Amino acid sequence: MKLTPHFTLAELTASSKASQLGLDNMPAEEIVPRLVRTAEMLERIRSTLNAPIVVTSGYRGQALNRAVGGVTSSDHTQGHAADIVAPGYGSPYQIAKLLAPLVATLGIGQLILEGVKGKQWVHVSTRVPDKTVNRVITITDAGAQLGIQELA
Ligand SMILES: [Zn+2]
Repeated sequence: MKLTPHFTLAELTASSKASQLGLDNMPAEEIVPRLVRTAEMLERIRSTLNAPIVVTSGYRGQALNRAVGGVTSSDHTQGHAADIVAPGYGSPYQIAKLLAPLVATLGIGQLILEGVKGKQWVHVSTRVPDKTVNRVITITDAGAQLGIQELA
């Protein structure tokens, strides 16, 4: 099922961890319109990057979220968020640098550059965090920092 021209429901719910653990990661019906909004945001990001986006993690049901050690309040569990990379454009740092000044224009509620346990990706959510100061942050093994910071 296509959510938008370049993103499918399957892409936004796929999880190797879920298949490995035999978890059903299909969202409840009320989550699907949120995934459409998330995919629409991804379309705007795709146009800005002018490169294809690979979604490494989209919707995560509670069981999957627990299995990957996600925080219980994670926007992934509500269908608002996606973790992305776009090797055709550049590194996650380069992507986050480009997007940071454009969050309002592109309808990105929260932008996080994540560099954790040797992996790097960009987390984008349609939801603006309760503390708006956290709208654009960098998270590493050392913790969270405001803004987009170069990863070690
Ligand atoms: Zn994420």
